Amino acid sequence: MAKLDLLVVSPSLTDRMQDALAEKFTLHWLAKEADQQSWLAENGAKFAHVLTDGHWGVKPDIMQHLPNVKVISCYGVGYDNIDAADCAARGVVVTHTPNVLNAEVANTAILLWLATARRLVRDDAFVRSGAWLNGGAPLTRSVENRKVGILGLGRIGEDLAQRLAIFSPEISYHSRNEKPGVSYRYYPKLIDMARDVDVMFCITPGGAATHHIVNRDVMEALGPDGTLINVGRGTAVDEAEMVKALQDGRLGNAGLDVFEAEPKVPEALFAMDHVTLLPHVGSATVETRMAMGDLSVNNLLQFLTDGTTISPVPECQNL
Ligand code: NAP
Repeated sequence: MAKLDLLVVSPSLTDRMQDALAEKFTLHWLAKEADQQSWLAENGAKFAHVLTDGHWGVKPDIMQHLPNVKVISCYGVGYDNIDAADCAARGVVVTHTPNVLNAEVANTAILLWLATARRLVRDDAFVRSGAWLNGGAPLTRSVENRKVGILGLGRIGEDLAQRLAIFSPEISYHSRNEKPGVSYRYYPKLIDMARDVDVMFCITPGGAATHHIVNRDVMEALGPDGTLINVGRGTAVDEAEMVKALQDGRLGNAGLDVFEAEPKVPEALFAMDHVTLLPHVGSATVETRMAMGDLSVNNLLQFLTDGTTISPVPECQNL
């Protein structure tokens, strides 16, 4: 049987993903085209199948050239760079990779909290520079018995809450809806939770609904002793206000895996000891990326078999 054409929007895929796709698909790499818009105008109509990731998504300038697309598989759970509601209205199935990355992202959130509270990066530099020879490092703050607020108690947030139990925290959460069957305290208003907790973990999706949900008032409510950990999306935090609040001491500390215009990161953060920075690596281990890759590929292969997918996004679950 002739192979089908697959449009690959992300610039790279693992060898394992390419091998698994090779039997059924010919891969067309958008990133290799010098003039992507002209190439898409000429070739876009032939693609029914698209593979992308959470960062690249399928933005409107690409989508407008894909009149015959039937399925978009996203390597990643966040799909804020794909207009899933529009896709659903057009009968296009969008899939993503939920659950297989919960543990890894939750671990990254805890890593950022520990690194920030215990000043891991500062103290590592302290040893390497030889400063220890002149005396011990300053004391840090404990992560034990803290009031912890989770903004977004979804799949990852719940996994995080369970993992945090070893630190004997008092856990609360905020989301739009109270979650049934959950014993953690629910705050209908984010600012009220921010005022009450020592550390706030942000693990919401991106997009318009969460844009700058962590604003100046929320960060000031978290306060000079408070810590913000963001492993959700950079757009959920008003980054310019966060930088100022960290500079002025109105917000105590931050551990950040995601940024508003990544890979661009505000340079003012680079010199701050009370901030820990990661390059959006929440799920970036060999093991978890393998599981995400397998799910992304299997969503496409199953679609070829019977028109269904394993993990459609909520907007497309009734297609
Ligand atoms: P999920 O199960 O859909 O959970 C999302 C949570 O956010 C839900 O509790 C939801 O509750 C809440 N939420 C959504 N919109 C909200 C709003 N406007 N205000 C307050 N709360 C809101 O998703 P997940 O699988 O846990 O993943 C969460 C996000 O993590 C992804 O979408 C992605 O952006 C990010 N992520 C980052 C990395 C990384 O590498 N750093 C890796 C994986 C995922 P309600 O609907 O009740 O509001």
